[in-house]
Amino acid sequence: MVLLLAACDQKKNGVRDEAQNFLDDYSQEYVKLYTQDQLAQWISNIEIKKNDSTNTLAAQKADEALAVFTGSKDNIDKARKFLDQKAELSEIQVKQLQYILYNAANNPQTVADLVKRRIKAENDQTQKLYGFQYTVDGKKVSTNNIDDILKNETDVSKRLAAWEASKQVGPTLKDGLVNLRNLRNQTVQALGYHDFFTYQVSDYGMKTDEMMQTMDRLMKELYPLYRELHTWMRYELAKKYGVTEVPDYLPAHWLPNRWGQDWSSMVTVKGINLDSVLHNKKPEWIVKDAEDMYVSLGFNKLPETFWEKSSLYPYPADSAVKKNNHASAWHIDLDKDVRSLMSVEPNAEWFETAHHELGHIYYYMTYTNSDVPPLLRQGANRAYHEAIGTMMGLAAMQKPFLVGRGLIPANVQTDSIQSLLKEALNSVVFIFFSSGTMSNFEKAMYVDSLPADQFNQKWWELSKKYQGIVPPSARGEEYCDAATKTHINDDPAQYYDYALSYVILYQLHNYIAKNILHQDPRATNYYGHKEIGDFLRKIMYPGASKDWKQVLKESTGDELNAKAMLDYFQPLVSWLKEQNKGRKYTLPEAMQ
Ligand SMILES: [Zn+2]
Repeated sequence: MVLLLAACDQKKNGVRDEAQNFLDDYSQEYVKLYTQDQLAQWISNIEIKKNDSTNTLAAQKADEALAVFTGSKDNIDKARKFLDQKAELSEIQVKQLQYILYNAANNPQTVADLVKRRIKAENDQTQKLYGFQYTVDGKKVSTNNIDDILKNETDVSKRLAAWEASKQVGPTLKDGLVNLRNLRNQTVQALGYHDFFTYQVSDYGMKTDEMMQTMDRLMKELYPLYRELHTWMRYELAKKYGVTEVPDYLPAHWLPNRWGQDWSSMVTVKGINLDSVLHNKKPEWIVKDAEDMYVSLGFNKLPETFWEKSSLYPYPADSAVKKNNHASAWHIDLDKDVRSLMSVEPNAEWFETAHHELGHIYYYMTYTNSDVPPLLRQGANRAYHEAIGTMMGLAAMQKPFLVGRGLIPANVQTDSIQSLLKEALNSVVFIFFSSGTMSNFEKAMYVDSLPADQFNQKWWELSKKYQGIVPPSARGEEYCDAATKTHINDDPAQYYDYALSYVILYQLHNYIAKNILHQDPRATNYYGHKEIGDFLRKIMYPGASKDWKQVLKESTGDELNAKAMLDYFQPLVSWLKEQNKGRKYTLPEAMQ
């Protein structure tokens, strides 16, 4: 009996050791290639030159080298072989092996030529998107210029010109997008997935149907509030633009965002005119101040290399070299090299964004520890990273925090309903774009093989259905308005991550407000509370080495649900109903 057990243990140790040797070798090579790839991608995002594809080619080469390794038949076979002996392995070993297989499916070398073509197509698409020169009335403009017009201009014809300019890049990207859809699908099909969307969803341990049902459930819960917001917005915008006839659906060019995904700039909360205060600050101050918030929670200062290596500020408008203007955070070597790509200007939006991006950076720094192997240095699931970042952005915009930071006077009278309205115009509105329009469009594209001559029709059908938004005039298939959205091109089939991240963020934030700060979730001041740092570190520390549902349950005591989000906005519903009295509701009473 004793002998038998000993023999059994020995076998277990044998397999475990063998698996560990494989994981060690794999990780070492993976980190090396991943780092080279990130470095090349970094350069290609901060040095975009017209008629010079050197950086793009280098990024492509690095992508290929990583793909050849992660998708190698040898690695796939070995990971499968060890997973067949799951019972003999430790949980953390199993997690790493599963990640190796998931990673392989995106680049299986059994279809090497396909993978190569896909990677080239992806890099070409990125270059076309970010190197594009937008023009309004023949004058060169940046996307920041366009966004300014959409936020501030009240002349509807000028708004229309800016909105149309923002869609100029679509036709340039259409063929590339169709091609990418096919290549992405074919690549993962080689490892048994139905399509690329389904593959992406599998990272949550879910099937496509389950994910889409989760999206529907979320939107259904929030729909009565969205319907009030939609009605309010139509009437208020008509008033603002001096239009007497209120349109039934929101014209896309009326909204303060290129895709109608964020309407919050519509509201200026009295007393909190952050833009005018921040306008006098240097962009550098914005990022330093964000760092200060994290330090006050007990996190370390950012490493020197962050400041040396990041690209934080915009290039001049006429610069021959362009950069990706979309904010992002990078974990270059899955170790100490963390960087951010931003185009910080001294305004409220970048103030919030800087707090958001540093959330990613501190997440990277926290799960970079000896208990988490490099392969599992990721968020608990893909949504967690966004949840933490967005939550910190939200906390940084709440009045008690801003007062504490000396950015607004303590005695300033603010309208809490207006604050809440502003937030709802951001997050609630966003859910209907992310869970609704974006997720359903990408599902149609990848899962249902949407024909290329129906892209624009589908896009606007979904915009109307979920967001209640219509184009200013007919947008035929000569346009490709979906492709003007960054993520459709270079961050595909995972936009539901952002919707899930909102749900998780309100769950975490409510917990912090109620159980740690004992403050109203709508008026908190995180600053200086080390217990919040402790709470966050517990979530961040294990990275992806722990199951995400377990992480949520252990930290908040709850399952995934939108109750916290609903609670948070409850006071707004009755206020909106009052405002909308006598107004015509054009969205159906229940979501269809
Ligand atoms: Zn983010």
